[in-house]
Amino acid sequence: MVVGVDNPFRFSDTNKRYLTQSYYLKQRFGQKVMKISLNGGFTCPNIDGTKGTGGCAFCSAGSGRFAGDPHKSITEQFEDIRRSLEPKWGRGLYIPYFQSNTNTYCTVGKLSRLTDEALSQPDVVGLAISTRPDCISDDMLSFLSELSDRTYLTVELGVQTIHDSTAVMLNRCHTYGDFLRTADRLYSKGILFCAHIIDGLPGETFDMMMQTAEAMAKLPLHSIKIHLLHVLKGTRLADSYMREEFSVMTLEDYVETVCSQLEVLPPELIIQRLTGDGAKGELIAPLWSMKKFVVLNEIDKYLASHGSMQGIRYRGGV
Ligand code: SF4
Repeated sequence: MVVGVDNPFRFSDTNKRYLTQSYYLKQRFGQKVMKISLNGGFTCPNIDGTKGTGGCAFCSAGSGRFAGDPHKSITEQFEDIRRSLEPKWGRGLYIPYFQSNTNTYCTVGKLSRLTDEALSQPDVVGLAISTRPDCISDDMLSFLSELSDRTYLTVELGVQTIHDSTAVMLNRCHTYGDFLRTADRLYSKGILFCAHIIDGLPGETFDMMMQTAEAMAKLPLHSIKIHLLHVLKGTRLADSYMREEFSVMTLEDYVETVCSQLEVLPPELIIQRLTGDGAKGELIAPLWSMKKFVVLNEIDKYLASHGSMQGIRYRGGV
C-alpha cells in the first residue's frame, strides 16, 4: 500500500488519516466501486405498530425522502441512479444498497427476489442491506448467510447509541442489548456487518458519544457509519428543536468529537461515512452540515494538525 505524502496512516493513498470505504473498495476490487441506494418498498416495525408507532424521533422515512422510487423495479431504480452517477464518476463497479426503511422486515422470499434482481445488474460486486438490530429472524439469518456466501454482503445495523436512556427518548423501541445479540448472531455466521451511530443526539455529552465509539471499537465490525444528527422537517425531533428543548452540534464540536472517536477505533475498521446526508429542503439544522466537503476538510485538518489518525488510541478488542 502506498502511504500518502506526509501521511503516516497506513491505509490511505491521499491525505485521509482514516480508512475510507472508497480506499478499501478500490483495494479490494481494483477500481472505483459505487453504492446505489435502492428502495424495496419496505416499511418499518417502528412505524406500523409492530414495535412502535411514529418511528424514531429523527427519522423522516415516513415522508419518503430516501432514494429510489419504490414504484419502479429494482432494475429501473438501479439504472436511473447508475446513469445519474455517470457524468461525475464514469462507469465503475457497483454495490446495490437496500437502504430505505427496514429491509429485513419481510419474508425471505421477497428479499430473495429483490436481491437476486439487484445481483443480476451489470458490474455488481456486492450488496448492502440496512436494517434494525431487532429485525433479523432465524430464517432471515440463514438467508443472509447464504447470500454472504454468494457475494460481498454487508448488513448495516442502526444502533445510534449504546445509551438506552437516549434510545427511549428517541422512540427507537430496541435496546443496545438487542444490537449486541444480533451482532453476535451475524458474526457467528460469518456475515459482515456495519454499525450506524449518531453524534449530537439530545442529552448526549462528549463522554457519552465517546463511550459509544469505544464500545464499537470492541466489536468485530466490518465497518462503521458515523452520522451527525440532522433535524429534519416533519420529524418529532423537529418539533422538539422548535421548542428549543435541545441544540445541535457546532461544526467545531462535531469535528473534535468525530476525530476523537476515530482515534479510539481500530485502524483497520472501514469508515463508511463521517457525515450525514440532510436532504436539501428538509434540513432544519445544523445548516453548516450542507457543506459536506467543508466538514470532511475540517476533519482532515484537525487530524493532521494534532498529529492524529484513526486508531492512534485504540486499545484492542475484548
Ligand atoms: S428503525 Fe429506521 S426506518 Fe424505522 S423509524 Fe427508525 S430510523 Fe426510521
